[in-house]
Formats: sequence, structure tokens, C-alpha cells
Amino acid sequence: MALVVQRPKLSLAEKLYLPAVLGGLMLTIRHFFKSLGGKTETMQYPEQKWDDKLPEWYRGAPTLVADEWGRERCVSCQLCEFICPPRAITITPEEIPRTDVWAKVEKRPKEFEIDMIRCIYCGLCEEVCPEQAIFLRKDYAITGYSRAEMKHNKAKLYELGGVMPDVINKWNDQK
Ligand code: SF4
Ligand code: SF4
Repeated sequence: MALVVQRPKLSLAEKLYLPAVLGGLMLTIRHFFKSLGGKTETMQYPEQKWDDKLPEWYRGAPTLVADEWGRERCVSCQLCEFICPPRAITITPEEIPRTDVWAKVEKRPKEFEIDMIRCIYCGLCEEVCPEQAIFLRKDYAITGYSRAEMKHNKAKLYELGGVMPDVINKWNDQK
């Protein structure tokens, strides 16, 4: 059954908008006098940053992480590429040679790219990853002079992500 949402009835003051405009002006004037006394409501970005005030659950730039021995966690399953709503992730998988010491795992990413112009910081890639290889770190000041610069390749993603020690499924011999 269709749900009908009634439009709220506006009072005369709300219809005129004037009280709301005056309320906004009063707020600005109050902040102005506060700032004369040295109390500012604004932040001088980029000299001042939010870094130490970010909540623990803050979602910043997606990055790739390695384990404490520098091994890649990513098995190139491409689940994150599939789930990414704006299609910001592009992975090129490659087979790990049988002679390689880590040959137990069949695949690794030959290239892994995240287009930070497309990324909406939703965190779905982190949630879907079965190997805990991709994490949204707290970096939010992602800038660049060109579109190409805003495409983070595998090296850049590992540089931003760094090391995250933990149990990793793919190196577990019991699995
Ligand atoms: S955070 Fe969201 S938009 Fe950004 S790469 Fe991950 S899944 Fe895609
Ligand atoms: S980062 Fe995770 S989800 Fe994405 S391809 Fe690698 S293992 Fe799969």
C-alpha cells in the first residue's frame, strides 16, 4: 500500500522566512563578537587540521595493507572491484608462479588501481574483503594536480596503507 506523506503546515513566520533569516544573522553577529574576544568558531585549514579530533570509525582513503613480513594480503579475488558502487577500483590479477615460495595462493594483483575522483569513501570494499587486505585509513586530504595523479596505483596504495599485522586466511595451512 502506498504511504502518503502529508506536507507539514507552515506557520505565518515560517512562510515569511524573515525570522529564520534574522536568526541566521544573529548567529553570525554573535560569532563575530566572540571572535573579537579571541574565540573563533572556524579552523585555519590547512595549517590547522582535524586529525586529532577524527572519530575512531572515520572513513578516509581506501588503501592496501601488507602483513608484518611485507607480504601482500590481497588474493585478487576482485570482490571489492565488483561491489564498489562508483566502479572506482580496477584490478588486474596475475598468477603466482609455482616456484614462488607463496605459490599456495594462486593469485595476486598485478595492478590494483583506485580512482580517488570516483571514490565515495563508502567502505564497502573494506567490508567485503575476505583477506582484510583493503582498509580505509584516516587520510582525507587527497589532492592532486591532474586526474592521473588522483589514480592511486598499487605502489601508492601500499605506501598509504602500510603494515597491518594480523592472522591472514591465505597463509593459514589449516585452510
Ligand atoms: S570506499 Fe567505496 S567507493 Fe571507495 S573504493 Fe571502496 S567501495 Fe569503492
Ligand atoms: S582487496 Fe580483498 S576483496 Fe579486493 S581483490 Fe584483494 S582480496 Fe579481494
